[in-house]
Amino acid sequence: MKRLLTVICLFSLALQLSAQVKHVKHVVLIGCDGFGAYAVPGAKMPNLKHLMETGSWSLKARCVMPSSSADNWASMLMGAGITEHGYTEWNSKVPEIPSVTITKYGIFPSIFSVIRDQKPGAKTAAIYSWDGIAPLIEKDAIDMVIPGGDAGDDFCVDTAASVIKKQKPLFTFIHVSQPDGVGHNIGHRTPAYYEELQKVDARIGKIVQAVKDAGIENETIIMVTADHGGINKGHGGKSLDEIQIPWIINGAGVKKNHEIKDVIITYDTAATIAWIFGLKMPQSWRGKPVTDGFD
Ligand SMILES: [Zn+2]
Repeated sequence: MKRLLTVICLFSLALQLSAQVKHVKHVVLIGCDGFGAYAVPGAKMPNLKHLMETGSWSLKARCVMPSSSADNWASMLMGAGITEHGYTEWNSKVPEIPSVTITKYGIFPSIFSVIRDQKPGAKTAAIYSWDGIAPLIEKDAIDMVIPGGDAGDDFCVDTAASVIKKQKPLFTFIHVSQPDGVGHNIGHRTPAYYEELQKVDARIGKIVQAVKDAGIENETIIMVTADHGGINKGHGGKSLDEIQIPWIINGAGVKKNHEIKDVIITYDTAATIAWIFGLKMPQSWRGKPVTDGFD
């Protein structure tokens, strides 16, 4: 009996190490451009705060340097930093440093090709409000690529809600351009910035509702994070206001009301998603799964 128990324990440990968070069939990643972690405590964001209270979170996650957009969206989705993928600037369309490796999809491996190659039947979706995302994703590895163009964040969120309800993708990535726009035009830490965050929160609420309406709430993990924060009317520099990003995770298998103390860098996002689904990470990745967020 004792031996049987040991075998069972070893078996369950092995399952844990290879992850596959039990019952999770969907991950929805919401990336809010220019959403500094500094703003969370003072922001009126009931939907986001509910995700925190009923999930796990860190307000000390960090972007990669420079604290700019394209290099960080690449890092978040590609599980590695700029030294590896080579996208170094706010609007990089091709890597300024040649990527250390590229896949058959033509660019550095991202979570999309990791899913496509290891779960070929799984549906994935990328819906984005900034066209700078387009060169950073492997279109041929994604089922639904939907650029928002000039239609903006509400279009992207409504489209994503509809995709989640109708298609129930294994992985859905939604990029929204706010609050970055207000940060640039009016400024970070301004009343207008906090006002915009209420709209960002309403959009997050729409996605949470779509997951409920799809009937997949109990088998879905929702993640909310950002590419970078900001200071005054910009970002790209070295202040913590620019570097620290929120990292919030909620859903099946995730600890509740738990502040994650582990170090989180934005490339850990892709690594965590791969780990949730029990997928092998490419050797070129540098992210680690944020296991502290899970039961
Ligand atoms: Zn940005």
